[in-house]
Amino acid sequence: MVKKAKPEELGKLRAEIRDVTLDIIAKAHKRMELSERIGTIKGNLNIDIQDESVEQEIRSSVFEFSNKLGIDPTFSGRLLNILLAESVRLQQIQQRRTEDITLKNTHLSVFMKAKELESSGKKIIHMEVGEPDFPPPKSVRNALLESYKMKQYHYTDSRGLLRLRQAIANKVGNGITDDEVIITSGGRFAIFSAMLALLKQGEEVISIDPSWPAYREFVDFAGGKIKILQTTIEERWTPNLRKLEEMIGQNTKVIILNYPNNPTGKVLNEKEISKIISLARDNELYLISDEVYSDYVYGRFTSLTHYKYDKIIVVSSFSKSCAMTGFRVGYGIARKEIIDKMARIQAIALTSVAEPMQHAALSAIDYNPAGNVKLIKERLDLISKKLRQMSLDFVSPQGAMYVYPRLNGSIQTDAELVNILLELGVAVAPGSGFGENYKQFIRISACQPKELLKRGLEIIESVLSVR
Ligand code: PMP
Repeated sequence: MVKKAKPEELGKLRAEIRDVTLDIIAKAHKRMELSERIGTIKGNLNIDIQDESVEQEIRSSVFEFSNKLGIDPTFSGRLLNILLAESVRLQQIQQRRTEDITLKNTHLSVFMKAKELESSGKKIIHMEVGEPDFPPPKSVRNALLESYKMKQYHYTDSRGLLRLRQAIANKVGNGITDDEVIITSGGRFAIFSAMLALLKQGEEVISIDPSWPAYREFVDFAGGKIKILQTTIEERWTPNLRKLEEMIGQNTKVIILNYPNNPTGKVLNEKEISKIISLARDNELYLISDEVYSDYVYGRFTSLTHYKYDKIIVVSSFSKSCAMTGFRVGYGIARKEIIDKMARIQAIALTSVAEPMQHAALSAIDYNPAGNVKLIKERLDLISKKLRQMSLDFVSPQGAMYVYPRLNGSIQTDAELVNILLELGVAVAPGSGFGENYKQFIRISACQPKELLKRGLEIIESVLSVR
């Protein structure tokens, strides 16, 4: 028989739970103090703030202790990740490194500096941007005018126009239906909303570096913890799948893939993809596959839409394929329940993608980008040829629109080269914007006419050969 609840007992339990909460806060305070002291020592000894092996040691103790107490270890792991994130933040303040972090050199910060220089009259060759320089498909102009004439300028379903979702489902094939598609504000919002939909506080996302810097920002914003699998030029940017497997823990929730890759141009083969999918399946992980560069492939590429695993979210966009960056139309493809969660987030943040832009995208659905792809490939070849003459190491891109060479002369850091080049009227993206271990790299974008690229490369060569 259930015991009858007594009001005075409820009051007692509430007082007790308050006291326990205060105890936890006091312990957290103590932890922060210790963390600051550790931060000072690390600063004096010039030791990195984050140390995977130390974190792993605490994690093991926490899991062991949780199992002993009979408390869910995944909850303890998430709580630990929140505490670890706070320690890192405090230690960064301690070492006055926050300034470096917020002002970090990325392709975007270089772009902003270049724009500033341009506004004071300087001419800049933009080899830092990832924005195609050709116009959108011709159909788009008409579709925009038509949508105005037809008064198609209203809110839409937050998942997007049914006709556009159907058209994408048809184009992608593989049995995808319209309720497995969401139209988002660029590929960016598809990834962001997927992260928000999937992650609980303190859960982990594995990302493969070098990578688009937004992934880390999305995970931070969603209260998750990013774990980085480094790849190297020596491995030809192939992720080490044994290391990937070792990184998967109790709190891992998502692996994010981006092939064709920004910035390296790497494309995975089917065997590698299958292995990653089976790792995800064995560990019940979600896979977000960012395929915004999928039209720019110079060999074989297999989209993850070809694979049957119900935790895959494929993201693509009209931005690169159709040179429609400013239209802000992208999409996500996943199982209906995931799409519905992403739609709820899009409804909260934006209501829907602007209706005229969705009509513009619909008109571009059958656009054949082959001409643009050929042009980008020619430019990549031109860049590669010049880089070879300059004896710089790089892996020939199998996709996307960038080359990611390693500096080997007396200029060893991207920041130094980027600043010298800006003075000389050339903007390139610093390699470290794509991951901490890539200070020796720069990213050169093929989104400019050949003549400009040639001139830019000559300036780069002149700088590197003098030093
Ligand atoms: N993923 C990657 C790898 C990118 O480089 C970009 C844009 N630079 C995007 C996604 C987002 O593109 P958009 O939002 O314009 O579709």
